[in-house]
Amino acid sequence: MEQKLKELLLQVTKKFHSSMDVSAILAEIIDALKQVFPSFDITILLSHEWDVSEELPIKQLCYSNGQRNDAATNAYLTGKIQIEDIIEDRKSVVYAPLRGKQGVYGVLKIMATNSFVFPQHEIDFIEVLADTGGNAIENAELYQQSRQLVEDLQLINKTSHQLNSNLRLSETISYMTQQIKSSFSAQEIGFFMFRPNGDIEVIEGSTSFFFKDTNLSDIKAFCDRIKKDKDALFIGDLASNEPHLLKPYRSFIAVPMIQSGELKGAVMIVHEHAYYFSFNKFKLLQSLIHHSTLAFTNSMLHEELEKLVITDHLTRLYARNYLDEKVQQSMNQDAYGCFILIDIDNFKQINDIYGHQVGDDIIIQVANVIKKNIKTSDIAARWGGEELAVYLSKVDQEVGVTVAERIREKVAQETSPRVTVSCGVSEWKQVDKDKSLKTLFNHADQALYTAKRTGKNIVVVFDENTCYM
Ligand code: GH3
Ligand code: MG
Ligand code: MG
Repeated sequence: MEQKLKELLLQVTKKFHSSMDVSAILAEIIDALKQVFPSFDITILLSHEWDVSEELPIKQLCYSNGQRNDAATNAYLTGKIQIEDIIEDRKSVVYAPLRGKQGVYGVLKIMATNSFVFPQHEIDFIEVLADTGGNAIENAELYQQSRQLVEDLQLINKTSHQLNSNLRLSETISYMTQQIKSSFSAQEIGFFMFRPNGDIEVIEGSTSFFFKDTNLSDIKAFCDRIKKDKDALFIGDLASNEPHLLKPYRSFIAVPMIQSGELKGAVMIVHEHAYYFSFNKFKLLQSLIHHSTLAFTNSMLHEELEKLVITDHLTRLYARNYLDEKVQQSMNQDAYGCFILIDIDNFKQINDIYGHQVGDDIIIQVANVIKKNIKTSDIAARWGGEELAVYLSKVDQEVGVTVAERIREKVAQETSPRVTVSCGVSEWKQVDKDKSLKTLFNHADQALYTAKRTGKNIVVVFDENTCYM
């Protein structure tokens, strides 16, 4: 090879070593070829769809359309340089494969006109340039891939970490939604749980699209498919595959959540552009979901158990649903009963002045006063927030008021920082026409409202003439 060409090769190779960018490498190759063959027509045919500069003379290599004898395809498939002399057109074309160690990435096409025949030393030059170029492209590609892998692992790692920090389920889902939004550039993300009775539940924290009633049947169609195949779905263009589903979105991925071999639910992501998600993203979502399903199902289980639990964890009083159950039981079997609803007065101020922690402590203090001042057969519960309640079965209103009064008085005396409470009292009797849980509670609520309106720190008994909302 001529000294000039050798020096050029050396220079280009040096530049390749300092570049991890496919586009820059391709530009170097073209630049070198232009220096040696300034008047020839140079094109690079690429087999991959790289994001390369539009200014470069680059075309997509089409090798799957049956043109098996085409010289470019041959160069690509055999990995060997091809020379085509087209006598009638007085053209000579060299096709040199851009070969790396793991594959061929494209073909250099150099076309000489006016019956120019490439001398051997120039063909040697092209071959070496194509080889070093192919290797450089491969390195850059591997580098990008490994960087992407590291990024993907970081995402999975960060997410598992977050999931293990025991957030509420809805917070976990919101977090995942944010992560998927930024890592996958998905426009809508839905998390679905498959209930044993066949229902599909959209989990809080999914994006709004999946909560729209009009989209429910489309979601169900995909969920049914997942239930049937127990496999992920990767659809490049909904418009041509499922023209009426999930409009206006076109790219679609659905991944099942499987725990211990059992299908628990699915995750779906969509984008309005067709073929938006790459196959790698599809794989990434699969492993992300695979790694998070255990945490999901655990926190769902935890929340379901919480609902079943009968004590309120802050006050150690009964939970609301337990109270409901007991009142209903009493209404079925007793002759009468009395209900007291207790609300701490000006509690917002307590929180504002002393902070939530002290606020919580006050709720506990009030709960303890209540516990000390009722009998074991009475049921005290956390009604919600800073509202507490007591149900006294087989107790009439008069006695109920005495109990309420005692509680009101003791709270004012024993709490620190001092707070007062207002109470609404209601009763039911077997003979009442409109006897129901709801009326009993409503009446107490109206009485409480009247207590608040008439100055607080008092007990008011429900009376339909004086208590109204
Ligand atoms: P009112 O006398 O009319 O009852 O006034 P209020 O300030 O107590 O008002 P309201 O009952 O409407 O609001 C109660 C406030 O109590 C609202 C909420 O910030 C706070 N709160 C509810 N649950 C809790 C809780 O579990 N802990 C704490 N620290 N604060 C709570
Ligand atoms: Mg309140
Ligand atoms: Mg209050």
